[in-house]
Amino acid sequence: MADPRGPAPAARGNIAIVGAGPAGLAAAEVLSEAGVAVTVLDRMPSPARKLLMAGRGGLNLTHTEPFETFLSRYGAARARLEPAIRAFPPEALRAWCEALGQPTYAGTSGRVFPTAMKAAPLLRAWLARLAARGVTLLNRHAWTGWSADGALCFDRPGGTPIHLAPDAALLALGGASWPRLGSDAAWVPLLAARGVALAPFVPANCGVLIPWTAHLRDRFAGSPLKRIALTFNGRTVRGEAVITAGGLEGGVVYALSAAIRDRVAAEGSATVTLDLRPDMPVEEVVRRLATARRGQSLSNHLRRNLSLPPAAIALLHEGEGPPEAAVKALPLRVTGVSGLDRAISSAGGLRWEELDDDFALRRLPTLFVAGEMLDWEAPTGGHLLTACIATGRAAGQGMLRRLGAAGAP
Ligand SMILES: Cc1cc2nc3c(=O)[nH]c(=O)nc-3n(C[C@H](O)[C@H](O)[C@H](O)COP(=O)(O)OP(=O)(O)OC[C@H]3O[C@@H](n4cnc5c(N)ncnc54)[C@H](O)[C@@H]3O)c2cc1C
Repeated sequence: MADPRGPAPAARGNIAIVGAGPAGLAAAEVLSEAGVAVTVLDRMPSPARKLLMAGRGGLNLTHTEPFETFLSRYGAARARLEPAIRAFPPEALRAWCEALGQPTYAGTSGRVFPTAMKAAPLLRAWLARLAARGVTLLNRHAWTGWSADGALCFDRPGGTPIHLAPDAALLALGGASWPRLGSDAAWVPLLAARGVALAPFVPANCGVLIPWTAHLRDRFAGSPLKRIALTFNGRTVRGEAVITAGGLEGGVVYALSAAIRDRVAAEGSATVTLDLRPDMPVEEVVRRLATARRGQSLSNHLRRNLSLPPAAIALLHEGEGPPEAAVKALPLRVTGVSGLDRAISSAGGLRWEELDDDFALRRLPTLFVAGEMLDWEAPTGGHLLTACIATGRAAGQGMLRRLGAAGAP
C-alpha cells in the first residue's frame, strides 16, 4: 500500500556522529532509518573495538531480571537514563539482536548473551545494515575540537585534517577505560574549555588491590577462586574471582567495586570478607574440621575435609588468625582499585545537568552526547551495553526532532 505521506524522502539533513562504538552506531541506525544522511567518524582503524573486546567474555548484552531491579542498577543516574531505557528495554534489545541474525539466550544468572557468544557476527551484521542505509563510516578520523568558524576538526594520520560543519553532531566517544581500544578521553579538555562540566573519570567494574605476601603473589597469581562469596558493607555477591599479582579481579569483585572504590577514596582502605565455602553452613565446616588430623598438615586437613584448592588454602594463611577459623569469613584489606587501563568501564564523565532531555548540550544545542561518556555507572550484567545503545538511540531521536525530520517520535 502506498504511504500516504508519499515516497520515503531522499537523504535529508546532514549529521556527523563521532565515535563508532555501540552508542554512536545505535544513533546512526535511528537517523539513517529516517532517511537522514549520516557520517560516522572514529579515531581507530576499525569501529567498535571495545564491543569486540566485550565479546571475548561472551558479550553480556542485557539482563532478564525484573525491570525495576534492572533500572535500580543505574543508581543516581537512573532518573535520566530511564526514559531512554524504557524506550529500548532489554526485550527490545534482544529482538533487535535477533533481527540482525543473532539470537540470544539467558543464562541461569539472567544475563543475556548472543548464542554465538561473541560480538563479531553481530557487529558485522550491524555495520552491513548501516552501510545498506547509506551510512558512511570514516575510520582514522580523530576529533580534535573546533575551527575558528565553529566546524568540527578531525586529524587523519598521514593525511590532511578535515573540517565538517554538519546540521548537528553526536559525540559518542566512550568513557576512559581500556584507552588502547579507542576511548582515551582526550575530548575531556575540549569540552571543559567550552565550559561543559565533567565529573572526573574513575575506574568502575574493576579489580581491587590487596597487599599479598610475596609467597601468595609468586605462587598463586592467576589462580581462579570458584564458587566463593565476597561481602562488603553488608552486600554479599556469589561467583568467581581470580587472584592477581596486585589483588583480586573477577565477577564478585567487579560487582562490589564501586562501593569499595568510594570507601577507599574516603578512608584510605576497605575491608572485604571472603567466604571460601558459601554453600556449606559454618556448623558443617566446624564439624568437618573437628575430625582428627592424624598427623596431616593443616593444609592437607583443609584440602581433604573441605575440598579447598591450594590457592584458597594459601589465602587462609594470609590472615592473622587461625586459618581454619577464616574459611567462612576471611577479612582482606583493600588498599586501592586497579587503574582505568584495566577497568571494564569508568564512572564519571559529562554531567547530566549539561544535557536537555534530547541528549543535546544546553550550551551547544547542535551537539548531542550519548553512551559511556555521560556521568553514570552500572555493574556488569549487560547494563552497560543496554544503556549505551539506549542513549545512542535516544540521542538519534532527539536529533531527528531537532531536524524536524519525518519519523521522529
Ligand atoms: C574487557 C571489557 C569487557 C566488557 N564487557 C561488557 C559486557 O559483557 N557487557 C556490557 O554491557 N558491557 C561490557 N563492557 C563495556 C562496554 O563495552 C562499554 O560500556 C561500551 O562499549 C561503551 O560504548 P560507547 O559507544 O559509549 O563507547 P565505546 O565503545 O568506547 O566507543 C567510543 C568510540 O569513540 C571513539 N573515539 C574516542 N575518542 C575519539 C575522538 N577524539 N575522535 C574520534 N573517535 C573517538 C573510540 O575510538 C571508540 O570507537 C566491557 C568493556 C570491556 C573493556
